[in-house]
Amino acid sequence: MQTNASGHLFARAGKVLVEGVSSASRGPVNYVPYPPYIRRGQGARLWDVDGNEYIDWMLSFGALPLGHAHPRIVEVVREEVANGTHFATALEVEVEVAEMIVGLLPHADKIRFANTGTEACMAAVRLARGVTGRRKIIKFEGHYHGWYDALLVSTNPQLPTTLGHPNDPVRIPDSSGLTPGSWEDTVVVPWNDAELLERAMETHGREAACVVTEGVIANMGVIPPKPGYLQRVQELCRHYGALFYLDETVTGFRLAPGGCAELFGLEPDITTYGKALGQGFPIAAIAGPAEIMAGLEWGKVLHYGSHNAPRLGLYAAKTMLEEMLRDGHQGFSRLAALGERMAIRLSEVIGASNRHPAVVQNVGSMFQLYFTEAERIETFRDFCAQVDRGKFRDMANRLLRHGVYMSPSNTLHSLSCTAHTEADIEATANAVGTVLDEMN
Ligand code: PLP
Repeated sequence: MQTNASGHLFARAGKVLVEGVSSASRGPVNYVPYPPYIRRGQGARLWDVDGNEYIDWMLSFGALPLGHAHPRIVEVVREEVANGTHFATALEVEVEVAEMIVGLLPHADKIRFANTGTEACMAAVRLARGVTGRRKIIKFEGHYHGWYDALLVSTNPQLPTTLGHPNDPVRIPDSSGLTPGSWEDTVVVPWNDAELLERAMETHGREAACVVTEGVIANMGVIPPKPGYLQRVQELCRHYGALFYLDETVTGFRLAPGGCAELFGLEPDITTYGKALGQGFPIAAIAGPAEIMAGLEWGKVLHYGSHNAPRLGLYAAKTMLEEMLRDGHQGFSRLAALGERMAIRLSEVIGASNRHPAVVQNVGSMFQLYFTEAERIETFRDFCAQVDRGKFRDMANRLLRHGVYMSPSNTLHSLSCTAHTEADIEATANAVGTVLDEMN
């Protein structure tokens, strides 16, 4: 595969863009020696500037449940962009999408739209603090909720010897430029262990505005909750008067129409959405019961934004929901079946190669491969201690040269979209087999 045009663009980009990219994860930390520059996407396929074709399992970090350039999305956006891009005022489509979302979420009466997951998470934490009058927030090791200061603690994989005792994890800020004050009220707890949370809640629960959790860890690969664990998180929140905040930025409108809340039978007090909601357009949402969401009314907890409820994103969201929900929520079942199938085929390929101990984990449409001797990766600490991330990066970069696009970061994950086919799954499984042979 020839990638000269991408190479030339990367050389130019290095002169004018930091690290040649606009988000560190798109740059040299993951792509060796440089990322493919993508020119076009259609369905589950991408084409780069050199004309190479890829089966896309990265899908804009999960933002494309219908794949690229879905004909109905293209049609509605083309039609609506001609009527104006953004008005920053009240819109009919805003009401329509809010009604659709509230109809899908039994735990939510009201919505507030934002643009990105990070913004929604930031507003949700402020809302929780405002509503409860409490300062502390409890978050989990290895859970990423965007790059807002108070949540940017213990989100990156670390050397296992730096993590501290599970009863009192060392809090590790993930960036320079964070003042100690910005995260002094952030309590960090290991996930998937009810006893550790019970202990932390005994100490901090009465001062906690919320416990924030991903429903499935989507930022250490794919780590599902142990049976009953999230219910226990919810119970402990109720007991101590902390809000149960489920961050569904990745899982919302992907794992089920009602996200992890539906999948695991939860009644969160606050949820946040992004990614899949906009089908590639930046749009996010905060949702919850009316009495909690009323906290965002004027004069209480401030949430502004010139671009809130972006018009084209709303049309894309409306169309995406219509498509995913049609014929008895067929889109959701298709995504899950394709993800399951891909995970099974990857496990078979690993078994057949027999030289690279690895495990594949998935929840519906989300899947990830870990090179590890362990049977399962169940926690952030397992991930830090037992997963060979360098080897995964090597595999994913080699896969690019075989026309398969998975994010080279093992902390992320791969995803299916409705446009993937059985043939894509087979082609991907074959490419992974070939690459595993190459890697000896
Ligand atoms: N929450 C979770 C669970 C995420 O995975 C992410 C992004 O990956 C975010 C929040 C932040 O979303 P965004 O990248 O749209 O700011």
